[in-house]
Amino acid sequence: MRYLVLSDIHANLEALEAVLAAAPAYDRALVLGDLVGYGADPDAVIERVRALDPAAIIRGNHDKVGAGLESVASFNHLARYAIAWTSHVLTPANKAWLAALPAGPAAIDDHVEICHGAPFDEDVYIFDDLDARRAFIVMQRPLCLFGHTHVPAAFRFLRDMEPVGPPRGPRFELKVDDARYLVNCGAVGQPRDGDPRAAFGLYETDTRTLSVMRVPYDISTAQSKIIAAGLPEVLAQRLAIGR
Ligand code: ZN
Repeated sequence: MRYLVLSDIHANLEALEAVLAAAPAYDRALVLGDLVGYGADPDAVIERVRALDPAAIIRGNHDKVGAGLESVASFNHLARYAIAWTSHVLTPANKAWLAALPAGPAAIDDHVEICHGAPFDEDVYIFDDLDARRAFIVMQRPLCLFGHTHVPAAFRFLRDMEPVGPPRGPRFELKVDDARYLVNCGAVGQPRDGDPRAAFGLYETDTRTLSVMRVPYDISTAQSKIIAAGLPEVLAQRLAIGR
């Protein structure tokens, strides 16, 4: 089985389309949450993802707030503005679908599980070694894929923990050996590692190989839509610098 790994699409249809066009052959998609928020195409992104019929999909914090399940209290003013706009424009059907998304972690098979933030809490960020250590204690399978930070990262734990990566360059590949791995394949729709290209992953179960890839997309169209929607301009500007 070859899984396409998509996380943090954030209503960026141009980035999602570029990823789907550039992705090597795959069987099913895994979607790690935050389909909406920040970008100008929440309905179109939801419909595109639904059409993919993913093998698994879990919710992110923006999905919860956009669907009306949680308040905006934990969001900064930019995220707050964008999610209020999102909640306003979403069709009732898409909002209901978003509200019904399950929380992570979700088991994919005996080797792989997915979560949005961390395996112990869907809203917690895994940035550094200390965060990763907490996650290694609770993850149940050799490979745990996560999102939420929008920063590609890979951690390996055998007898002790070693960071591998962060994944850089056009393609980063790792083979899941005897160790356990915690990997963020990056954000499709709002990268924050200084590389504005859309990020995604591909996991091959036969060879237990995970690849993290980047693809350029039509940033200026995504930006124009953000401005035209009346969303804060900084949300358009950040796409160009990947922050
Ligand atoms: Zn996100």
